[in-house]
Amino acid sequence: MIPALFTHVPVTTIKEASDALNHYGDDAKLLAGGHSLIPLMKLRLATPGYLIDIARINDLRGIREDKDKLVVGALTTHEQIENSPLIRKYAPIIGAAAKLVGDPQVRNRGTIGGSVAHGDAASDLSVALFGANASFVATGPNGKRVISAVDFFLGFWTTALNQDDVLTEIHIPYAPSTNWSYQKFTIRSQDWAVVSVAVSGSNIILGAMGEIPLRAEKCEQAIASGADFEQAASFADEGTSPSSDIRASADYRRHLAKVLVFDALTEAKKRS
Ligand SMILES: Cc1cc2nc3c(=O)[nH]c(=O)nc-3n(C[C@H](O)[C@H](O)[C@H](O)COP(=O)(O)OP(=O)(O)OC[C@H]3O[C@@H](n4cnc5c(N)ncnc54)[C@H](O)[C@@H]3O)c2cc1C
Repeated sequence: MIPALFTHVPVTTIKEASDALNHYGDDAKLLAGGHSLIPLMKLRLATPGYLIDIARINDLRGIREDKDKLVVGALTTHEQIENSPLIRKYAPIIGAAAKLVGDPQVRNRGTIGGSVAHGDAASDLSVALFGANASFVATGPNGKRVISAVDFFLGFWTTALNQDDVLTEIHIPYAPSTNWSYQKFTIRSQDWAVVSVAVSGSNIILGAMGEIPLRAEKCEQAIASGADFEQAASFADEGTSPSSDIRASADYRRHLAKVLVFDALTEAKKRS
């Protein structure tokens, strides 16, 4: 459980971070809270030679109101999101998901940017942000790109970020504080989701039911054409490809997706 040798490269600006990524190429990785990357390095599943430490870039922190959206800095921690009055007011589903990430230690160190950039289909924040129609700002050598959640998650631990991109901001459109629910099933409390579901307005998004967070299209269509929640939820596993692992079989995940979609639709309606 000891990582391979690496060089620590602290940076204090976004440009320095992007330049360092460009300079060291594929041998470099950004380090934010370290709560996904360091465990991978200890298991030698990641062996970057250079860790570009962005923790001191103050421009990447904080949550602010913009005209039609909240702007959340990539280094904002799960704990700051969970306890933010702005998140509570304008994007409560994101606060609810942040509250369910790991334990207090993880929430105090882990960041929203790291969670999203890691590209894990079970990431609580990724699933909730997709539900909330969030978009992601990537800053690279050629400037900024805004990437919608639909286009951001590409495959297993793979996102639309380029090797020399820094994820700088997450944009969350203002949403009504009703008609949302985030459901997460875990084997032990404070664990990763076996399956999760975000319902926000007409969006129904599934976590851990494939390589990326997935839209439950058939459920959304069923609701739009007047199906009741039980009928709609029965389609929850259509188009998904859950894996079997130590925590659950693929069949059990399919079952859970239906249960959690029903629960999420029911809770969202109660809030409306
Ligand atoms: C015990 C434990 C339990 C956990 N439980 C959960 C859970 O229940 N739910 C959950 O969702 N997560 C869970 N996590 C993961 C946690 O949320 C991590 O904090 C998060 O996934 C990664 O955030 P980080 O800031 O630690 O990123 P890091 O580990 O520093 O980085 C993760 C990856 O993202 C890249 N990266 C980081 N920041 C940026 C950026 N700004 N731009 C571009 N790339 C970037 C890094 O290069 C790396 O590849 C758990 C972790 C642990 C250790």
